[in-house]
Amino acid sequence: MKKTSHMTRWNYCPQCATPLEMLPMQEDSGIVERLRCGACGFTHWNNPVPVLAAIVEYQGKVLLARNALWPPKMFALITGFMEAGETAQEGIAREVKEETNLDVQSLDLVGVYDFQRMNQVIIAFHAVCDGEVRLSPELVDWRLYDLPELKCWPAGTGYALADWLRTRGQEPVFLTPEENAERRRGLD
Ligand SMILES: [Zn+2]
Repeated sequence: MKKTSHMTRWNYCPQCATPLEMLPMQEDSGIVERLRCGACGFTHWNNPVPVLAAIVEYQGKVLLARNALWPPKMFALITGFMEAGETAQEGIAREVKEETNLDVQSLDLVGVYDFQRMNQVIIAFHAVCDGEVRLSPELVDWRLYDLPELKCWPAGTGYALADWLRTRGQEPVFLTPEENAERRRGLD
């Protein structure tokens, strides 16, 4: 998945180019201060962005992949942004194809998870896939894991993996704080 623009600060109104300011306004929930345009009334709502994620089941194992920008020990689910005009199911099948070249044979929803640090909401699927793995340039490595080998990480997609493992009768094991720090080393 490409880097998001969640850290981007909006400086100007996209409608009239007036500098945006934190302005109070009456909303359904009361007076709320948000980044708004004093000239035309535009509000930057900053709603969370939906992100699709797939627990890819391939040859009876779970495929995790490593992004080129990630530390060497960091493997994770296939993720991507939804595009306009597609369903979540179409979007995750497209992302799996683009990132791994695999074809999705069946999909089921695992759950919906918040990822507030990134202002995202994660829609996680279990995707049974076949075909031949060919990674996109965004990804540099992939591994297949038997279910007992998988360790979950304490973030949105890791909780999705844990919930899915439970549906397979596998009690999820989470990384210890030390293991998680090691996995993320160099990321922050
Ligand atoms: Zn404006």
